[in-house]
Amino acid sequence: MKIICVGRNYRLHATELGNEVPKDPVLFLKPDSALVSKNNPFIIPAFSKDIHYECELVLRIGRAGKHIQKKFAHRYIHSIGLGIDFTARDLQQELKSKGLPWEKAKAFDGAAFVGDLLPAAPFGDLQSLRFQLLKNGFPVQDGFTGDMLFSIPALLEEISQFFMLKIGDLIFTGTPAGVGKVEAGDQLEGMLEGQKNFSLNIR
Ligand code: ZN
Repeated sequence: MKIICVGRNYRLHATELGNEVPKDPVLFLKPDSALVSKNNPFIIPAFSKDIHYECELVLRIGRAGKHIQKKFAHRYIHSIGLGIDFTARDLQQELKSKGLPWEKAKAFDGAAFVGDLLPAAPFGDLQSLRFQLLKNGFPVQDGFTGDMLFSIPALLEEISQFFMLKIGDLIFTGTPAGVGKVEAGDQLEGMLEGQKNFSLNIR
């Protein structure tokens, strides 16, 4: 399986990092080795002094597809949940400033965490979901999927023109504003539509 991530899909997050609002979705990949195993903590890697959380709606693909049209996109989404796109922000800034790829900052071991994946259908309209990230009990990110710059069907159409989707692939749909640093001892909790989706300890 592969993990496909969308960058800068919420206006306020793009601008909080001083980036332009993109005309086309910004896409990048993480390998399956980036997944944090369930019930394990996230361990801050030695190569970064500025690891950021980015809480995102995650889609799990339930059907293989290429060149998916927007109107059929819903058929390919099996389940949804929340995840964290961990980012070594210091390393990312350094790589960006040199015009180099981001992988070391975004695709390292442990850089992808996924909470409980739940069947998508009962959620109804995936473009009107609210989610929240709590750090040590305090809300730090508030997301509304209706604020996405590129809707979920538009993302599947774009992604599947480049990368064939397979069963079990995960799509991280971008983070809302409020990203920030994690430190050892922090606890992150994700809430999707008012229900706890995950709890993750940082070490
Ligand atoms: Zn992200």
